[in-house]
Amino acid sequence: MDSRLEGIRDTVLARNPGEKEFHQAVIEVFESLGPVHDRHPEFLEGAVLERLCEPERQIIFRVPWTDDAGRVHVNRGFRVEFNSALGPYKGGLRFHPSVYLGIVKFLGFEQIFKNALTGMPIGGGKGGSDFDPRGRTDAEIMRFCQSFMTELYRHIGEYTDVPAGDIGVGGREIGYLFGQYKRITNRYESGVLTGKGISWGGSLVRPEATGYGTVIFAQEMLKTRGQSFDGQRVVVSGSGNVAIHAIAKAQSLGATVVACSDSAGYVVDEAGIDVELLRHIKEVERGRLTEYAARRGGATHVTGGSVWDVNGTVALPCATQNELDGDAAAKLVSNGLIAVAEGANMPSTREAVSVFHEAGILFGPGKAANAGGVATSALEMQQNASRDSWTFEHTEQRLTEIMVGIHDRCAATADEYGAPGNYVVGANIGGFVKVADAMLAQGLI
Ligand code: GLU
Repeated sequence: MDSRLEGIRDTVLARNPGEKEFHQAVIEVFESLGPVHDRHPEFLEGAVLERLCEPERQIIFRVPWTDDAGRVHVNRGFRVEFNSALGPYKGGLRFHPSVYLGIVKFLGFEQIFKNALTGMPIGGGKGGSDFDPRGRTDAEIMRFCQSFMTELYRHIGEYTDVPAGDIGVGGREIGYLFGQYKRITNRYESGVLTGKGISWGGSLVRPEATGYGTVIFAQEMLKTRGQSFDGQRVVVSGSGNVAIHAIAKAQSLGATVVACSDSAGYVVDEAGIDVELLRHIKEVERGRLTEYAARRGGATHVTGGSVWDVNGTVALPCATQNELDGDAAAKLVSNGLIAVAEGANMPSTREAVSVFHEAGILFGPGKAANAGGVATSALEMQQNASRDSWTFEHTEQRLTEIMVGIHDRCAATADEYGAPGNYVVGANIGGFVKVADAMLAQGLI
């Protein structure tokens, strides 16, 4: 790391003790930014990095709710409004027992750069709760969402902060959250949340966008080496919204996706994952992958272990942070890997990323490769602002243009800063310069 940034890093780490995922995200960005500060001494003078690492506002609140038996539970809610230089805070809500401030801040920090890369007018934020939706009934989920929004509503708004989904928050939860926001505020403010249902202000392609976008990004990387998805053997982690649509898109481009996973294990299906069956089990039945193997002839389920033991030429980590470590990366490389695109946020550890770079693997970091989700959220905001709704084809075309644009900007920025082919450097610098310029232009705030 550039020595001028080391002191800033040390202050950030000391000021935010115990938030190891946030530290990891900050260090990863700082490691790319040395050359930028040679060209832009004004960023150092304006303390842009010090300001960028301190969220503009952090909200932590109590979320009390009752289960179906009438028992009272208390969870913790978060919204970190990280940076509004480019637009209203924008980013998802994650409901998962692992959520604490360090997770929300790592996600919010990454979101600043990701959102800048999309070219859309959106700042960075993130939120969520340590609530565990697994095994909860619809009525329990609704009561939790209503309680969560009863505090959150006062902090958000179409021009202020626009939450959406993330792990544990999908269309159902956005519906309950939107209903409660409308009820409290007496405003049909479509642009306050994205990921809404199609009949009440949502955008076509938003459910598919993160997974589709990840594959489009990977396709653009493959093109730089004269290759495509056609004939690739793809390994995907996860089996939620991002994974399902990444699988569908990769297979539509001629790849065979041979494996995907959930928290209990993974399935191997040499014939290619049956996306409709997977979607039905995960989204309609809210079931487990063991069900997939039980119903699909030729598929096998492996309990525990790592999906990265399955060999493939393209890996798409679409589950969660730090799910792919240095050992898994080395194994994938020795098994013939050529490309990785991250559908999840920070799924590869720093060691894994080093292994990929040293082996000359094409590596698309999440803040670039998975930006299609939030970009399509910004398209949803555009449709809401103009009280319009676009066709699937038009919206998908916009998503494709945005993803190709992000790829090309990352590649060009990496070239410009002397790191050709390094999409980590390209994404970090590309996102940072845009935000830093806007912050300086807006004065010391
Ligand atoms: N949670 C998604 C992400 O990580 C989407 C956020 C949004 O649509 O606002 O980018």
